[in-house]
Amino acid sequence: MKKPILGAFQNRNGSGHMLGPLQKIHLPMRRFSESEEVDYVIVGCGAAGGVLLQRLARSGFRVLALEAGPFWDTEHDWVSDESGSHQLYWEDSRVTGGKNPLALGANNCGRGVGGGSVHWAAFTPRFHPSDFEIYTRDGVGVDWPISYEILRPYYEQLELEMPVAGPAYYPWGHPHGYAYGPHPMGGVGNALIKGCSALNIPVSIGGPVAILSGSHGDRPHCIYRGFCLQGCKVGAKASTLVTHVPDALESGAEIRDLSMASRIELGKNGRVAGVHYFDENCAPHYQRAKAVIIAGYSIETPRLLLNSACPGFENGLANSSGTVGRYLMAQAGTVVLGRFDQPVRMYKAPPAHALTEEFYETNPKNDFARGFAIQTVAPLPIAFGKQMVAAKKAWGWGLRREMMDYNYWATFGLLGEILPWADNRVTLAGETDRFGLPVAHVTFNLHDNDKKLIEGAKEKTMEVMHAAGAAEVIQEARYAHLVGAARMGSDPASSVVDKFGRTHDIPNLFVCDGSILPTQGSANPGLTIQALAARTADYLISQGEAVFTSDRRDMSEPPLRVKLAPPGTYGAGAPRLK
Ligand SMILES: Cc1cc2nc3c(=O)[nH]c(=O)nc-3n(C[C@H](O)[C@H](O)[C@H](O)COP(=O)(O)OP(=O)(O)OC[C@H]3O[C@@H](n4cnc5c(N)ncnc54)[C@H](O)[C@@H]3O)c2cc1C
Ligand code: SF4
Repeated sequence: MKKPILGAFQNRNGSGHMLGPLQKIHLPMRRFSESEEVDYVIVGCGAAGGVLLQRLARSGFRVLALEAGPFWDTEHDWVSDESGSHQLYWEDSRVTGGKNPLALGANNCGRGVGGGSVHWAAFTPRFHPSDFEIYTRDGVGVDWPISYEILRPYYEQLELEMPVAGPAYYPWGHPHGYAYGPHPMGGVGNALIKGCSALNIPVSIGGPVAILSGSHGDRPHCIYRGFCLQGCKVGAKASTLVTHVPDALESGAEIRDLSMASRIELGKNGRVAGVHYFDENCAPHYQRAKAVIIAGYSIETPRLLLNSACPGFENGLANSSGTVGRYLMAQAGTVVLGRFDQPVRMYKAPPAHALTEEFYETNPKNDFARGFAIQTVAPLPIAFGKQMVAAKKAWGWGLRREMMDYNYWATFGLLGEILPWADNRVTLAGETDRFGLPVAHVTFNLHDNDKKLIEGAKEKTMEVMHAAGAAEVIQEARYAHLVGAARMGSDPASSVVDKFGRTHDIPNLFVCDGSILPTQGSANPGLTIQALAARTADYLISQGEAVFTSDRRDMSEPPLRVKLAPPGTYGAGAPRLK
């Protein structure tokens, strides 16, 4: 990986760590010594880890995040250019296999402070109430150990903290509205509106998306240049790097960047005692902690648990159920491209700005359970070129010809629910990385329901593109968004963590990231992952010292702590329909 030019708090003149042209971290960061026993070590400072860190620091815990990637100084380390953004992704070696192997790397994991929220498109729909009980309703997958109503206040809170822009009335799932107004449409959004309207399909315009439609605190509004997946150098798109990390540091947290956790240490009395990690020069270190929270996402979290096997947990730490690594999910993410007679200029807007969830729920007329969403996507030229190679087998002069027409194409993506299957899993490969740690081996197979759903969703998305007036319509099969592989549940025999993210096996070891999702719906998962993180934080704060000293599990819901929100977020924005 390319090293950042300056790194955390080592800027040229010491006048502030830049998170955008206006947003700065002025203060020095607290540093704990390795010999100190901190309250919490969080492994991974991404979408979930950033929210947890902020909450725990604000409520007075001594908390440290170990982050494998760099602490970005966005003014120096980032460029508004597609080819200069590869450093944002987790591109270390991994082995991929199964009948339908997943493409890994840029398509799924982030690396560096902010994690995947740095390069996400920032679509932020909520999961529907049905997503929490698909086994009860549809006889497939599994029910969650919590309901939509439990997570609902956290959705409402995180939508203000990012904040999310969207329509005043959002009709699907549990209908609600947004406190910040929607974005104006770009060319792809217009195409989706046109196609949906021609077929009488309702469509949501201008959000929900965690991008500023007006300036907010020390962050400026979106300038519609379309470099969202490159990190948003402007600072208009939400990532925990700009939304939660500044307040976490102000509240006394430490983020130790370029620190790769390699093993969780099991200490006395069946409790974890700290985390082993490597610095950027591959030198080994050990940080003591009263409790550990893993927030490394759906591949690195199970990999770390499996790499932490020890006497008593020979098959991987907290893996008495044998489910660590299993029930990994990706969403179907087939892209449908349409060529129009007039220029679309799809890059002149955030890729995420319009969608329909009209086909989200199970429809008894279909030959599959569950459903899908259709969303705008707007690949920049390199990604578009790859799609032309895959979808049209374009090459040489033919590819050049297609690229010359880039401005005439629009792209929609379907987002389809693939069910949780035990054989879709993360295991350890024979290969090792530069630290000598076995890398992840990811196996992925589509099952019957998944294949039928993808086929039905693809046909509908192509129909919408035709209805929008595209002269030529092509498609490329893809997957998006990983979740699962350390799932939560009430039964310790079939899940890794309980409903608060505490591992069933070890009372002071938690998991808090996308890996704990039992199912995934067809909504983008980031908002749900952060809402769960805020709830886990409320639980930990309620439990106080008991997490460090007691093996008793209090399963009562914690009170919602709105006062822990980053300053200037809670209660701001227009009154909205909740
Ligand atoms: C191109 C793209 C577009 C996307 N668009 C959207 C979208 O529009 N909406 C949406 O909701 N979601 C989107 N996502 C998905 C979203 O980014 C992820 O679901 C989300 O970031 C996962 O959050 P997390 O906290 O579980 O993990 P992450 O945010 O990935 O954080 C994990 C962190 O842990 C660190 N880490 C891992 N292992 C270790 C270790 N051993 N030691 C130290 N650190 C470690 C990583 O470096 C990383 O920073 C998109 C993803 C991609 C790839
Ligand atoms: S389009 Fe808006 S959100 Fe996306 S990178 Fe540009 S300024 Fe940021």
